[in-house]
Amino acid sequence: MIIRKSQTEIDIMREAGRVTARALRSVGEAVRAGVTTLELDELAEAVIRDAGAKPAFKGYHGFPGTICASLNHQVVHGIPSSVVVLREGDILSVDCGAIVDGYFGDSALTFPVGRITAEATRLLDATRRSLEAGISRCHSGMRLYDISSAVQTLAEGEGFSVVKEYVGHGIGRNMHEEPQIPNYGQAGQGPSLKTGMVLAIEPMINAGDAGVESLDDGWTVVTRDGKLSAHFEHTIVITDEGPVILTVE
Ligand code: MG
Ligand code: MG
Repeated sequence: MIIRKSQTEIDIMREAGRVTARALRSVGEAVRAGVTTLELDELAEAVIRDAGAKPAFKGYHGFPGTICASLNHQVVHGIPSSVVVLREGDILSVDCGAIVDGYFGDSALTFPVGRITAEATRLLDATRRSLEAGISRCHSGMRLYDISSAVQTLAEGEGFSVVKEYVGHGIGRNMHEEPQIPNYGQAGQGPSLKTGMVLAIEPMINAGDAGVESLDDGWTVVTRDGKLSAHFEHTIVITDEGPVILTVE
């Protein structure tokens, strides 16, 4: 069952989204060559706790960080580390979540570290635009896989590939609620979208092949071909007027 949220719940989730966005902005402002992903993690945690909120990821199934910090060919779930030092030309995917009064916000961005290649720039741009395309389908009466299809069409149209193993999701009192939102699928299919649904839409797009695998640390997911991957995510609510992004300041 897809839980539809009341206006009161949406107001709380807007606050959780705002805190999440603030943490990600702070991380983005600190991203530069020489910084470790653990420093970025500590920064995000401080911003979230200063707001009176809780980091959503820390302790989630035992994950040790406030952020997932996934570098270059890492797709998602990279563990923040004092030995991972950012270098000019890297791209860093940062996923972050915050809990306010029991409700979750969830958002991700891929940051360039200094000057990056034209191909990396194109990947980041396409992934961001595929998220926007997915969000643009979030109107009452549309179908769930209209979102999926919009993401896939844009990403593949740019010559990139869609990660199949990890998906977006409903969100509320739990980080992961129904429905699962694949980044590929057939337009016109799936459950009907309705006002009050809150969804975390999160394309994970690879520069090369779609295949991914997990590292021995039990968390980090990487591209099998070692090529770059990017990840953008927003938590949105479907209103009578269409989609509203909650993970913004
Ligand atoms: Mg996320
Ligand atoms: Mg998510």
